Amino acid sequence: MHPASRSLTPGSLEQRPVTALKGVGAALAARLEVLGVRQVQDLLFVLPARYEDRTRVVPIGALQAGSRAVVEGEVQLTEVVYRRRRQMLCRIADGSGFLTLRFFYFTAAQQQGLARGTRIRCFGEARRGPLGMEMVHPEYRRVFDTQAPVEDRLTPIYPSTEGVQQGRLRMLIGQALRELDTAGVHEWLPPEILQTLRLPSLRDALEYVHRPPVDAELEVLEAGAHPAQQRLAFEEILTHHLVLRLIRQQVQTDPAWPLPDPGKRAEAFMASLPFELTEAQRRVFDEVDADLQRDRPMVRLVQGDVGCGKTVVAAAAAARAVGSGRQAALMAPTELLADQHFRNLDSWFRPLGITVALLTGSQAARTRRSALEAAASGEVQIVVGTHALFQDEVAFHDLALVIVDEQHRFGVQQRMQLTDKGRSTGRHPHQLIMTATPIPRTLAMTAYADLDVSVIDQLPPGRNPVRTVVAPASRRDEVVARIAAACQAGRQAYWVCPLIEESEELRYQAAEETAQVLAEALPDIRVGLVHGRMPPRKKDEAMLAFKAGHIQLLVATTVIEVGVDVPNATVMVIENAERMGLAQLHQLRGRIGRGAHESSCVLLYQHPLGQLSRARLNTIRDTSDGFEIAQRDLELRGPGELLGTRQTGLARMRVADLSRDSGLLPRVHQAAELMLARYPDRIAPLAARWIGADERYGRVG
Ligand code: ADP
Ligand code: MG
Repeated sequence: MHPASRSLTPGSLEQRPVTALKGVGAALAARLEVLGVRQVQDLLFVLPARYEDRTRVVPIGALQAGSRAVVEGEVQLTEVVYRRRRQMLCRIADGSGFLTLRFFYFTAAQQQGLARGTRIRCFGEARRGPLGMEMVHPEYRRVFDTQAPVEDRLTPIYPSTEGVQQGRLRMLIGQALRELDTAGVHEWLPPEILQTLRLPSLRDALEYVHRPPVDAELEVLEAGAHPAQQRLAFEEILTHHLVLRLIRQQVQTDPAWPLPDPGKRAEAFMASLPFELTEAQRRVFDEVDADLQRDRPMVRLVQGDVGCGKTVVAAAAAARAVGSGRQAALMAPTELLADQHFRNLDSWFRPLGITVALLTGSQAARTRRSALEAAASGEVQIVVGTHALFQDEVAFHDLALVIVDEQHRFGVQQRMQLTDKGRSTGRHPHQLIMTATPIPRTLAMTAYADLDVSVIDQLPPGRNPVRTVVAPASRRDEVVARIAAACQAGRQAYWVCPLIEESEELRYQAAEETAQVLAEALPDIRVGLVHGRMPPRKKDEAMLAFKAGHIQLLVATTVIEVGVDVPNATVMVIENAERMGLAQLHQLRGRIGRGAHESSCVLLYQHPLGQLSRARLNTIRDTSDGFEIAQRDLELRGPGELLGTRQTGLARMRVADLSRDSGLLPRVHQAAELMLARYPDRIAPLAARWIGADERYGRVG
């Protein structure tokens, strides 16, 4: 046997530290650890985010804008110019056409290396620029021989890895794959499951996704539809699902305080509201109410479309905790939402003699300190906050109920952290989780396997449906006129900027530009701006100014999607709507139609609109029911993200996409039953493989 492979037995890669690989010292090991890579096996499970075809050289004249390709040519001219920013332009030609390479960061040596007559091969994304086709910051190298070989496999591109360069990572994964050749990888799925799957073995699947052959179909791979990817996705979804099931089992063995509410504070609260609960609210509250009287912790998800009134149900549950002599905490994903909840709860509870405090990261030290003290002493009964509630310094006197709003923004881990806060009392707090993202049942069974689910499937009476129109971006002027009219009539409007995936930087520039252009077009209207790059305090300032009516037109990136309640806003314009997920569009539109006035939403799209995109936009135009939209979304399978991990409580997935791979779910559920019944001890190694051994989420079991 080869000496290097002597120690490699099946499964040994699970215990072989990466430092056993050539070229991995302590420094690199530390950076790899940040990526969750400790053992050689972990490298194999860093899966490509996409692929590039560098297997052939494309004639420059045949380059398509937007495509990524290898070209080769001779440098004709390299010069440094000043166009807004200092930059280096290098023109290359290959007889079929010419191409400009544009560099914003470059060295003098690099400039010299690109002297006229030099032959280079480069790889990058072709775009149309002011000088014709161009590539910005392509990878390139000098070639001396036109016959120089190109790649013989598709090139995997791994998810962005801070501190470890793609090239380095590719090389390490290459080493791990060679060890895979000799040692194999441990198959934790039992034969009963593998037989029914009819998918490649784990080892073949790994080999394929890391090194797809030249003739692999790029589209199939990009769509995640290759059997090798499906094999991995199955194992990944199964693992996450199993971990959630274990969390649930574990939680149900913990004791909790039953909340009897002898003085009927919850009922008193509901009676004090200026409106009647809808039937759906009442039903869901009764479910929650029954849970809260048990001595096992409730872990319940309340799903309900935007505006259905989840907050009231949560507040009633909090009143029950208070009425039982204990505390409740409500956690929101943003400061703005926390503030909004605090104001609502305070106005509802103050007349009933129930105390509410706010705790956020940006509070003045003194305010914050007194809120902390009040929470610890039990003087305050309900604490509303952001993730600041997680911090170690936050202690509760007697926390019996944790409410998490818009839970798709929080992961399972974070929820567990907050429930740990209640453990000081020796009992596990009840958890109520609220989300406005309706998801179909099979998906809910997978993604929320640790929870009981209630649905509020009815809106309060008297809501005005939002009139939605789909229009080409060329009708922008009419849309601007409509905004002017609405603002003159005393209403307010949102303008949601295009979703630019390339970079945060571009997204933020686009929003600034749009705000400027709109401010010029609408000189009499007060225009404000919020985007994700602003510090939270600035963002909240802008949102509060909008709430107070000081800002009439709010230009925003999609940061406004969650929970914001400004009933006076009646117009929303969404640019490049065709590029957004349906769930997201639905969430965004839920920001209007909240008051007594007619509301309208304009979905602007860029020509040309494909058939699928049109069908998707029409779905939004014709439907206001979130569940129906979610179902259509799943059927139409639009751009990713729709029902991906962002909307569920699951940790990030590497290869699976719950929406795309929904066809696997019934088999996942079956397999999970078998694993729980017959192979429970295999769940921990699967969790270590897919989720990470040290995270609490993965340590269960
Ligand atoms: P969401 O479920 O999206 O969080 P909210 O809890 O913010 O919705 O409720 C939206 C609005 O509807 C709030 O202004 C709330 O006071 C109001 N509301 C809630 N329940 C009812 C009801 N049964 N009748 C009338 N208005 C209600
Ligand atoms: Mg809400």
